[in-house]
Amino acid sequence: MSLLIAALVGAVAATIGRIVYRHRNPEPTCAWCETVSGWQVTGHDTTVCRGYVTEKRRRDATFGGELWRDPEDY
Ligand SMILES: [Zn+2]
Repeated sequence: MSLLIAALVGAVAATIGRIVYRHRNPEPTCAWCETVSGWQVTGHDTTVCRGYVTEKRRRDATFGGELWRDPEDY
């Protein structure tokens, strides 16, 4: 029984920890993907978005440095 309580307390603590973490570090949203897809896209930031970097690079070849650079581009 005490094991069950311990597991329950652990699960609750983990959930609270995750909520607090998400609150302090909100999931990054990508404005580029949002524009393209029409809904909010989370999980990555616009500055590291492959689509965004690739599009920008069409006008500025140096944009984004080595980010998302395909080996064929060299
Ligand atoms: Zn994106």
